[in-house]
Amino acid sequence: MKNRVLTGDRVTGKLHLGHYAGSLKNRVALQEEHECFVMLADVQALTTHFERSELISCSLKEMALDYLAAGIDPNKTSIFIQSMVPEIAELTMFFSMLVTVNTLRHNPTVKAESKGAGLDELYYGFLGYPVSQAADIAFCKATLIPVGEDQLPHLELARKVVRRFNELYKPVLVEPQALISEVPRLVGTDGEAKMSKSLGNAIELDCSAEELALKLRKAKTDPARIHKNDPGHPDICPIYAYHGAFRPEGAVEIRENCEAGTIGCSACKEKLRLALEGLLAPMRERRVDYAARPRDIDDILQAGTAEVRRIAAVTMGEVREAMGLDY
Ligand code: SF4
Repeated sequence: MKNRVLTGDRVTGKLHLGHYAGSLKNRVALQEEHECFVMLADVQALTTHFERSELISCSLKEMALDYLAAGIDPNKTSIFIQSMVPEIAELTMFFSMLVTVNTLRHNPTVKAESKGAGLDELYYGFLGYPVSQAADIAFCKATLIPVGEDQLPHLELARKVVRRFNELYKPVLVEPQALISEVPRLVGTDGEAKMSKSLGNAIELDCSAEELALKLRKAKTDPARIHKNDPGHPDICPIYAYHGAFRPEGAVEIRENCEAGTIGCSACKEKLRLALEGLLAPMRERRVDYAARPRDIDDILQAGTAEVRRIAAVTMGEVREAMGLDY
């Protein structure tokens, strides 16, 4: 039987290589074998951007374009908008009865993310967003959730909520399994632990050939390599991390040559540039093609959302019936 796979992204801006390595590439492959859903998580974006909601509406179609450019095929994957599926909000409310505040407070990811988002206080919506995530997963009875290691506590919570619901009422929901991504997190071009648009260290999927070359030229390398022949330390170099993620077949050679001081950083970056150009050039072409047909993008989002709502209506019928609320 096909797995039902749910993935998504907070709608806060364009997607970059970190998204591609961490999940998009995986999604493109998964859609060949499974029933796939990709959620534009605009409600979840509000947990940190509620004062800048215009950023969310501006980013929505750009992100849809990024998905399509990266190879998400709307004939194989339903792309939908979270806020247009009110059943998710309804299920979130039902689930919120089953989770204690202490459980949410002790979730290590919530703590770290709240701090990282620069929120001065812990808001109710932010604290509760793992409950909303559990509803995102459960409403469509997703069986497989591709996640990075840092998202595992959320998935575990979703599994617990579903289990609790099934035990308390009736076993109508499905406990999802995690599919850990091979490259959970990509470092930034400045060597920071995470590639992020807001940190200014990202290579966006829609960047031009010139922008790509410039970003790589400026990217940090091992500071100990002053001369071309100085032995390097690839493990502290973001360029080496990118070789590993996007050009794995050549990464061993890069490591050996870097450590031996037999390759200069410019030559190393050029090899990477060629590999990345090979990845991004077809994406640019698909992007231009879709961007010229904005009505088609609207249709794709409408169709994906309609398909998801059809599934959501069935699930919520079962949920209400299990809870005795089917009047
Ligand atoms: Fe980084 Fe490559 Fe330079 Fe080594 S040779 S420090 S891996 S850019």
